[in-house]
Order: sequence, then structure tokens, then C-alpha cells
Amino acid sequence: MIELKDVSVTYDKTKHLALSDVNLEIGTGEFVFVVGKSGAGKSTFIKLLLKELEPSLGQIKIDSRNITQMKKRDIPYYRRKLGIVFQDFRLLSEKTVYGNVAFAMEIVEKSPSEIKDRVNEVLELVGLSHRADYFPDQLSGGEQQRVGIARAIVNKPDFIICDEPTGNLDPNTSKDIMNILENINNQDTTIIMATHDKEIVNYMQKRVIALSGGKIIKDGRGGYPNED
Ligand code: ADP
Ligand code: ADP
Repeated sequence: MIELKDVSVTYDKTKHLALSDVNLEIGTGEFVFVVGKSGAGKSTFIKLLLKELEPSLGQIKIDSRNITQMKKRDIPYYRRKLGIVFQDFRLLSEKTVYGNVAFAMEIVEKSPSEIKDRVNEVLELVGLSHRADYFPDQLSGGEQQRVGIARAIVNKPDFIICDEPTGNLDPNTSKDIMNILENINNQDTTIIMATHDKEIVNYMQKRVIALSGGKIIKDGRGGYPNED
């Protein structure tokens, strides 16, 4: 469970209040969209969860552990428990599909046999077994994002953060990607997805947390809320 209690973020230089008194809970196994216009605070929220940014006020707890009090040296270990999916995929161009996914396990020093079994398993899960030996520039955008998802889940993270994962994809490819994310979510992995893709949010009918000016203006299951 992820809990934010009275969280505010003020950017030092500009004194801009990017998140204002945010309170929310995200339970294990939930699928949550975080939506809002540009400047609403979505990236700031994601940076808090990645510990790239600290709240100016309030607390963030993950499974009852207060991550705002974590020691600096523990942050890399904390980040190993999350998977991240990016809008621009961020694959290593000199590695194959297999190599990109394997690399995430190599850096956490998993054994070669464990890596081989698990990489093949996740490539199967995202429907890319037949592309294992391809390089990223030989793949479509949708296939590249499936590699991004495989890499995000390969170390069995507690939760996955997706930052505009469909932002560079056409609507049909986006739906394929969402179906894969839904399958992963059905295996009890929490998914938090920041997006302003209305069509996708309406298609999925999941919990939607809407931000505007750094405040939660709506939190509930359904489609994309109206924006003024
Ligand atoms: P979103 O991801 O929804 O577009 P952000 O979280 O990036 O929103 O930004 C929220 C607000 O904080 C915006 O008004 C933005 O201009 C401001 N902001 C974001 N990053 C910084 C920063 N590094 N320094 C100052 N202000 C920032
Ligand atoms: P690198 O990551 O060094 O650029 P590769 O991406 O080709 O190299 O693969 C990394 C390792 O995984 C190599 O030892 C290679 O033999 C092995 N490997 C590559 N493709 C596959 C595959 N489809 N199935 C099993 N093992 C593979």
C-alpha cells in the first residue's frame, strides 16, 4: 500500500506549489490513472514515488514504511522494487530485446540461469519471444514499449510506474499496450499510470485520480473527468 499524508511540494527556486496537501492511498494490486493537464502535478507525484524529489511537507509511506526518512544509501535498493515504463521507451540501442531485459537482472546480480528463464518468461508474457534477437531500431513503437514493460516487470517489482506510456503510440497500439498492463495488474502488481490520454482512460474504466493545480479534484472509478 502506498500512502500520501498531507503531502505538499514547493519547488525551491520558483516557490511554485506543485502539489498541495495531497492525501491518498493506493492499495496493493490496484490500477490507478493519474491524470491532469500539463502543469497539474503528475510528474511531481511520480518523482516523489521514485524518490527523485522529497516532499516539502507531509509523509509518504509504502507498506507502512516512511520513505521520506530513508537513508540516502538505501535509495538504490528501494528503487529496485519499482518498475518504470517511459513514454520514449529508453531502450539500449546496442543491446537486443533479450539483452535489454536481461540487463535489468544483470545489474541486480541474478544468476545466469535465473536470468535466462525469467527473461524468456517475460518476453512470452509481452508477446515478444519471436523478437528476442532483434535490436530496438528493428521494432515498431508498440514492440519497443513491450520491451520497456518486460524490463519493468522482470525483477518482480512491488509496483510499476508508467509515465505517459502510450504518448508515442497510435490508438490501436495503445490499447494493446494497455491490455498487457492489465494482464500484469491481474497478477497482483500495482500499476500507477500518469497520462492525459483520454481515449485510453475511458477505455480502461479504472480508478482515476485527477490533479489540477497540484490538488486532487477527483478520485474515483470511471472515465476521464471533464476539464475546464
Ligand atoms: P505535469 O507533470 O502534470 O505536467 P509537473 O509536476 O511537471 O506537472 O509540474 C507541476 C507544476 O510545478 C508546474 O506548474 C510546473 O511549472 C512546476 N514545476 C515542475 N518542475 C519544476 C521545477 N523543477 N522547478 C520549478 N517549478 C517546477
Ligand atoms: P549483450 O547484452 O551483451 O549486448 P545480447 O543482448 O545478445 O548481448 O545477449 C546477452 C546474453 O544473453 C548473451 O550471453 C547471449 O548469449 C544471451 N542470449 C541472447 N539472446 C538470447 C535468447 N534469445 N535466448 C537465450 N539467451 C540469449
